[in-house]
Amino acid sequence: MIGKPTTQTPYPGVSESRPSWLDLALCAQTGSAFFFPEPGSSVREAKQICLACEGRAACLEYALANDERFGVWGGLSEKERERLRKGPARTPADRA
Ligand code: SF4
Repeated sequence: MIGKPTTQTPYPGVSESRPSWLDLALCAQTGSAFFFPEPGSSVREAKQICLACEGRAACLEYALANDERFGVWGGLSEKERERLRKGPARTPADRA
């Protein structure tokens, strides 16, 4: 599944400032298709790659800090990062 190594990240804009975690990024070896799939497509393969990536924590931190809305970052999908940003679900009892 992991293809020919490359020095480019599949993430537009990130390569210009080149955070250090990109040196560990497994996605740089696979291309963007796994990480930015068509709407409604599975992100399972991207998440599996992320699980083996040593840059995962820093990648997720970067995505949250920069409000990245699209694609898989740090092993989390767009919806998973949105839930993480919003925090735990609130119940009526929490608001009382
Ligand atoms: S955690 Fe995933 S998206 Fe982030 S750098 Fe690693 S492989 Fe890429």
